[in-house]
Amino acid sequence: MKYTSTRNSSVSVDSAYAIYHGISEDGGLFVPCEIPEIDDLEQLASLDYCGRAKAVLSRFLTDFTDEELDLCVSGAYLSGRFDGRTGCAPVVSPEDGNFILELWHGPTSAFKDMALQILPRLLTVAAKKTGEGKEICILVATSGDTGKAALEGFKDVEGTKIMVFYPENGVSPMQKLQMTTQEGNNVNVCAIKGNFDDAQTGVKRIFTDEQTKKVLAENGKVFSSANSINWGRLVPQIVYYVSAYLDVKEKTGADKVNIVVPTGNFGNILAAYYAMKMGVPVGKLICASNRNNILTDFIKTGVYDRNRDFYTTISPSMDILISSNLERLLYHMSGSDAEKVKGWMSELNEKGCYTVDEQVKNDISELFYASCCDDELTKKTIGELYEKTGYLCDTHTAVAVNACHEYRKETGDNTPCIIASTASPFKFASAVLEAVGGSTENLNEFEKLDVLSEKTGVEIPAPLCGFDKKEIRFKDSCTGETMRAKVLDALGIKE
Ligand SMILES: *Cc1c(COP(=O)(O)O)cnc(C)c1O
Repeated sequence: MKYTSTRNSSVSVDSAYAIYHGISEDGGLFVPCEIPEIDDLEQLASLDYCGRAKAVLSRFLTDFTDEELDLCVSGAYLSGRFDGRTGCAPVVSPEDGNFILELWHGPTSAFKDMALQILPRLLTVAAKKTGEGKEICILVATSGDTGKAALEGFKDVEGTKIMVFYPENGVSPMQKLQMTTQEGNNVNVCAIKGNFDDAQTGVKRIFTDEQTKKVLAENGKVFSSANSINWGRLVPQIVYYVSAYLDVKEKTGADKVNIVVPTGNFGNILAAYYAMKMGVPVGKLICASNRNNILTDFIKTGVYDRNRDFYTTISPSMDILISSNLERLLYHMSGSDAEKVKGWMSELNEKGCYTVDEQVKNDISELFYASCCDDELTKKTIGELYEKTGYLCDTHTAVAVNACHEYRKETGDNTPCIIASTASPFKFASAVLEAVGGSTENLNEFEKLDVLSEKTGVEIPAPLCGFDKKEIRFKDSCTGETMRAKVLDALGIKE
């Protein structure tokens, strides 16, 4: 299985190369040249999560041996870092026909763990295969959850260093605490004055800057990415959709599902698209956005226009105006037309806007349904779901639950829906507490968690306990312009 670039069809590399380098030289993203089918899907039903993971990964990462995949998979999902009582990706059904896929039982209580617990393992194997032997420097731009999950995944992993940039005023207090108290000898965290897009653009610029790459190489180092632009992030995410489909089929006998995903960078929903292409029978992929509804508009009109206001919301991990992974979807939907994708991406870069062909637009809106909601409706959804069923969900998941309800109302379609639940409600305790009718007045961040737990009877996940006793290790901040200097400084490189 070979991988090519979304912007240059002459690129052809193995998965190890794609994972090791993170992004193609031309600025494009690595995509598989063909999408493998699982023709024995039903046979995976008898396997546990690790077995299912190996079945999916082995079809994409054909240059990894069985033994290597075994070690990566069991190291990530069986080593006690996920809650042993629930398993990695349990499916629960508080409402008839709606199956909530809880992806937040890992060490940072967000779905990013599903990929970031395995990525460092895949990356270390990939580094050996490509034989370059350099120290891998991971740069991460985060809207909140990726940063912590990447830090946990990479901390003290030999041969790696990691540096995380987060928007100074764009993450929740809990997310900030999780990152600034991070332990480990190879980790670094820095706030950036700006929003997530500024952080992401800055990281991308550093990645592709020839001079910076040269300086790193001279110092025996190489950049790689833990953002969802890295193929090694996406491929483990395909697994849980395959797994959830098998679980729902077992419970209901349904032979088709819809999948609802609260979407930011378009990585998680793209993984659902790949699962469908591999053979999971999917009716609709439902893309749920918050008030930053650029994807809702795009799916409805075929026009991607980032010339609009940016809002900070109570679902901050989706406060994004440039959804990087959409580029991969455009590549597949345009019949692997790298020239076309390259053109759209440079229009986005230059004018902040592009319009896809009529055909591409129609194909996308056939497959995807899109819906968005503001903070008020997000809270109302949390409150109503809790009142009706006793189920407590976080703000991001609520955006998806609302999209699911809207879809059903508008279409009358009663196909079972898998709803990706991307964070523990305790990660966004303020908004969730208010949504269930509690008051946050005079409570600090830790007290909010306790009050929410007392009020709802829902247990606080262990990874979110004890932050009041931890030391804040990282207080630095920078701007888009000084990011590069911060990186070199953290790596101990003098120019
Ligand atoms: C990252 C994140 C999302 C968005 O996922 P994408 O892959 O960027 O679309 C949604 N919810 C939570 C809690 C997240 O951390």
